[in-house]
Amino acid sequence: MTAPLDLLDLDPSLTDEERQIRDVVRQLLDDRVRPHVADWYEDGRVPARELAREFGKLGLLGMHLTGYGCAGASAVAYGLACQELEAADSGVRSLVSVQGSLAMFAIWRYGNEEQKQHWLPSMATGEAIGCFGLTEPDHGSDPASMATRARRDGDDWVLTGGKMWITNAPIADVAVIWARTDEGVRGFLVPMDTPGVTAREIRRKMSLRASVTGEIVLDDVRLPADARLPEAIGLKAPLSCLTEARYGIVWGSVGAARDCLETTLAYATTRTQFGRPLAGFQLTQAKLADMAVELVKGQLLALHLGRLADAHRLRPEQVSVGKLNNVREALAIARQCRTILGANGVSGEYPVMRHANNLESVLTYEGTSEIHQLVVGQRLTGLSAFA
Ligand SMILES: Cc1cc2nc3c(=O)[nH]c(=O)nc-3n(C[C@H](O)[C@H](O)[C@H](O)COP(=O)(O)OP(=O)(O)OC[C@H]3O[C@@H](n4cnc5c(N)ncnc54)[C@H](O)[C@@H]3O)c2cc1C
Repeated sequence: MTAPLDLLDLDPSLTDEERQIRDVVRQLLDDRVRPHVADWYEDGRVPARELAREFGKLGLLGMHLTGYGCAGASAVAYGLACQELEAADSGVRSLVSVQGSLAMFAIWRYGNEEQKQHWLPSMATGEAIGCFGLTEPDHGSDPASMATRARRDGDDWVLTGGKMWITNAPIADVAVIWARTDEGVRGFLVPMDTPGVTAREIRRKMSLRASVTGEIVLDDVRLPADARLPEAIGLKAPLSCLTEARYGIVWGSVGAARDCLETTLAYATTRTQFGRPLAGFQLTQAKLADMAVELVKGQLLALHLGRLADAHRLRPEQVSVGKLNNVREALAIARQCRTILGANGVSGEYPVMRHANNLESVLTYEGTSEIHQLVVGQRLTGLSAFA
């Protein structure tokens, strides 16, 4: 942490091990991601498989899971890693979140021993890539109405339907697909080379360009009986995976905000107008102070939720509080930082507008802000406003 931004002296509240993990992750990103990410973003191409293997070597994939080659790190350590990853780029953090918190967590939590042994060790090293298919073209915030079907045919399952906006789908080896059966929603492990599965990359994204996103079409995909995740019963299974990933976003989003603010502080202290640094104007200092206050509040919130998670006391609506606040504030910080950089703020030579554009996706995926408001609203009032 750059000292001036650690206004509340949060660093000493971390353990030595947590600080060490954070610093090692930061170094890897400084070496392998930061020098290239602006180009990846501009080109809309990212060497995701190569990155996954490097992240795997460091134990970042499925980092908070235990066994099967996973690192078994604490929730706070995982959060700190997400903060560093997203300080580099939200798309790069998404690669790690989807692999570890969505695909691997689903298998780890709901799979049988054979499924875990088959997939988790190679996913932990980054040799195998996973994706998580819940959203559909016509069903986003309301996954309960999903149209993808899985029907029994003898011992087999046959899946028909489609998933949309699926991170990593075009490069994945396996998809965790959520489908409606006669008994309700169930999860299936679908190897992407199964006949009837096609994945098409979604192009022309103006956000998360350093992340691969795709559509999956399932055309009478025949799977053996043991493709089903046996412990995943009902919609609460995919929702529990989302809670895992949202937790990472609580931390990640403050990473993006921190990078914007660090960049802006450096810029404002060196750029002069009217004979003095931009940082010397009261209006600029008011912006910087307000943003720094929001940043440290977001970091405190993330750390608090992390400590709750490590004490096994974290509830989904608390994760909603964190995701709602931290992404919203990170986006506000990114936009405000952009103003201080003036014309340079719209240039890809600086990371600020890339972060702002990325955060537009982060605001929408893993539950939109409105959905998290409804979750918190339900907790406050006891009334569900969803239906
Ligand atoms: C880059 C990217 C990557 C993604 N990766 C994945 C992935 O890996 N796997 C996956 O399954 N999905 C993924 N998603 C999809 C994402 O989770 C959905 O976009 C999100 O859930 C919102 O769904 P939607 O886009 O269909 O919007 P909609 O559900 O159509 O919502 C549109 C607007 O209406 C609002 N709205 C909806 N319902 C209500 C309500 N009841 N009350 C008030 N407002 C409401 C929403 O908040 C939003 O503002 C990804 C999305 C993006 C952009």
